Amino acid sequence: TAAMIARRDALLGPAYRLMYERPLHIVRGEGAWLIDPQGRRYLDAYNNVTSLGHCHPSVAEAICRQVQTLATNTRYLHDTILELAERLLASVPGTGLAHLMLTCTGSEANDLAYRIAKVRTGGTGVIVTETAYHGITDAVSKFSPSLGVSVDLGAHVRLVPAPRLYHAEGSDLAERFTRDVEAAIADLRRHGIKPAALIVDSLFTSDGILPGPAGFLKGAVDAIKRAGGLFIADEVQPGFGRTGEHLWGFQRHGVVPDIVTMGKPMGNGQPIAGLLATADALAEFGKSSRYFNTFAGNTVSCAAALAVLDTIERDRLVQHAAKVGKILRDGIAALAGRHEAIGDVRDAGLFVGVELVRDRASRAPDRGLTSQVVNRMRDKGVLISACAMGHNVLKIRPPLVLSADQAGQVITALDEALGEAQSTD
Ligand code: PMP
Repeated sequence: TAAMIARRDALLGPAYRLMYERPLHIVRGEGAWLIDPQGRRYLDAYNNVTSLGHCHPSVAEAICRQVQTLATNTRYLHDTILELAERLLASVPGTGLAHLMLTCTGSEANDLAYRIAKVRTGGTGVIVTETAYHGITDAVSKFSPSLGVSVDLGAHVRLVPAPRLYHAEGSDLAERFTRDVEAAIADLRRHGIKPAALIVDSLFTSDGILPGPAGFLKGAVDAIKRAGGLFIADEVQPGFGRTGEHLWGFQRHGVVPDIVTMGKPMGNGQPIAGLLATADALAEFGKSSRYFNTFAGNTVSCAAALAVLDTIERDRLVQHAAKVGKILRDGIAALAGRHEAIGDVRDAGLFVGVELVRDRASRAPDRGLTSQVVNRMRDKGVLISACAMGHNVLKIRPPLVLSADQAGQVITALDEALGEAQSTD
């Protein structure tokens, strides 16, 4: 492994990062399993791209069939993209979302959403949460504070505190979040900047996985719309059934976005992402801009995305995510009786966040312990990661096909890792 790391560093340069203190070399994936060259199996409880499981046969078959028939772009008439648009738009009835535009990555989808918002509103101001991640393009990295100190947030960007229920007990979270968004709008205006959009990841993933209480986004969404800005729901993480309730995370909050961006699990590994937008949001952009993105919306990617939607429906994966997600969450919550470091366990379907604290009275983040737990679990053959401003929230986000038995393996590995790890903070 050491030789491979050195070779990689030499070839790829310094900007890439590997996961885990002992990086993993993998050669094969199958269901929820990743397999190393020696045949050791790791339970993947982290990668939501391969949300149907690694190398899902239906997606592989759809890709093969289409790539052997026709791989081409959106400048020709073809059914796959139209079917995909119909299927995705049917998942958001009554919202006014009317059009699908496709990209290759979530970053590009958010970049396009921001361009559309700027044209529609005549503004540039963007409001995001304080540890948000929305992507890597120049424009989007300027409103992705979780990228760290090396990134200059734009002068047109305002950060609002993430709605952290665990740290806001006793206050009305919805009211607080609304007030913070209103204050950000007022501050943009004070600086002569017109608001273009409020963009939130409906599960606040990089802010520490903050799914609830359901409904708390409503006031903030009303506030940005009143101010003439758009509400953009970034569904790159919560989308495609992750929450175990609906296909999209925003639906738990009863709000109606002007634009919904999506990606990651959309092609179960095939690079396809995109956005749904209202006719009103897109009208002006469509008049003033021409949009062509060579690989985006290609027939092969669309075929993969259709197979993903078929499989979610056929195998009732949203319902499955709710069922196994509950087993996982309840099992982890039960560990709190034995492990003082577990401050809070939150979940939405098959997305569980476990906040690790130095003690339950202070609720102070325990970053060192969190990192140890992640690495010890890797050594035990269960892959997870961490997120949040304090890097102290375990991020457990397995494929939707995780079995109850596999959920049990995650719980056991976490129990052992918490027993062995020690706070170093
Ligand atoms: N938005 C969110 C919420 C994300 O989590 C990510 C990726 N982690 C992105 C956007 C960017 O997606 P991509 O990496 O496909 O560009």
